[in-house]
Amino acid sequence: MFNKILIANRGEIAVRVIRACREMGIQTVAVHSQADNDAMHVKLADQAVCIGPPKANESYLSIANVVSAAAITGAEAIHPGYGFLSENSSFAEICERVKIKFIGPTPAAIEMMGNKASARQKMREAGVPIVPGTPGPVRDEREAMDAARKIGYPVIIKASAGGGGKGMRVAHSEDDLQNQLATARAEAEAAFGNSEVYIEKYLIEPRHIEMQILADEHGNVIHLGERDCSVQTARHQKMLEESPSPILANGTREALGKAAVKGARAVGYHNAGTMEFLLSKDGHFYFMEMNTRIQVEHPVTEMVTGIDLIKEQLRIASGEKLTIRQKDVQHNGHCIECRITAEDPQRNFAPASGTISRFDQPGGPGIRVDTYIRSDYTVPPFYDSLLAKILAHAPTRAEAIAKMQRALSETRLEGLATTLPFHQRILANEYFQRGEVSTDFLARRMNV
Ligand code: ADP
Repeated sequence: MFNKILIANRGEIAVRVIRACREMGIQTVAVHSQADNDAMHVKLADQAVCIGPPKANESYLSIANVVSAAAITGAEAIHPGYGFLSENSSFAEICERVKIKFIGPTPAAIEMMGNKASARQKMREAGVPIVPGTPGPVRDEREAMDAARKIGYPVIIKASAGGGGKGMRVAHSEDDLQNQLATARAEAEAAFGNSEVYIEKYLIEPRHIEMQILADEHGNVIHLGERDCSVQTARHQKMLEESPSPILANGTREALGKAAVKGARAVGYHNAGTMEFLLSKDGHFYFMEMNTRIQVEHPVTEMVTGIDLIKEQLRIASGEKLTIRQKDVQHNGHCIECRITAEDPQRNFAPASGTISRFDQPGGPGIRVDTYIRSDYTVPPFYDSLLAKILAHAPTRAEAIAKMQRALSETRLEGLATTLPFHQRILANEYFQRGEVSTDFLARRMNV
């Protein structure tokens, strides 16, 4: 096992990784921007290095600065968290070259799965069902038109290099496609420096179901079941996740697990990863993309399986074999996570920054809070708007909902706009309570 690792991230995920390290006797190095001098991850780590000004591309995204900080402090490995450099294959490759272990998959696997068009192709070859669509990127408008006609409207245009909902547009007709194609390309070029797009069938009222994967560097791959992430904003940002999915039939769950493991094997995947699928109304599932990193919603799986995913990541990266076999994975009870962000639902989820005048956390049996904020903390305007993840774990879904409602009612989070009141409305919604949630739930059932 490593003696010392560097965490190339901030916020709640940096805190989460530091906590796992502390419990395992691993020394930690935090890196931070000038805007984060007194951030929680800096306080909790054994050492901290300032790597630049507030803007992420001059600090948290600076490969040279992060790698130098690791070299100077003698860190043997880097945990990238999520976001920032976590899915940057050049970063993983540079770490490899300077003999610092990247806690994640190989650069080749990151690159293959990071491009959605090539990931689709690879998964299709591996026999994993993919959403019907073009085999690769479309060259021009004509090819897009022909493909859309064959697939049947509505279709969704997606950037090959896409992520975070950028470069994604739905088209309901040929005219629509013409307009949206140009917009999607421009958006993709601006966000990723790559205007390549492909076309997929746009599924009506699907559910977003993802499978958590763990794979060691010795060829052992297992899955830890699903998370249902169908509660999303119009821009496809996840707001609430749960496991198990309230509607998944046992047979489908098993088939999804097998497909996810097969897909991960096909790319020689190791470490933690997530295979994302869409589940159609008629019960078919289709691979959508793979996230080659730990995810925001990983604690949902930790609560129902009792497996610490961060510790597993560290064990895998240090070369250990998985000690958990597929048949050992047990799922207990139901877990719901609310992502409380500094966003104003009344202003189209515009990000808010400012000082938290009061933060009282919820507690009690079955409640977990992953956060980095405290009273009198000023949320910097430069980064992700996630403030806290509140999780409720109980024997049944109905009990988990009641527990979450109780927890949210105890929480005081004042000083800036947050999604807390909005999450309370979701939990009180009768369709949500019945588990009737597809990815358009907020638009259809809550008018947002
Ligand atoms: P990103 O990586 O930008 O987040 P994804 O490919 O993961 O994009 O898709 C995000 C969300 O967009 C999905 O959870 C789903 O709600 C919606 N979506 C994506 N593809 C389709 C599709 N073919 N049909 C219907 N909805 C889709």
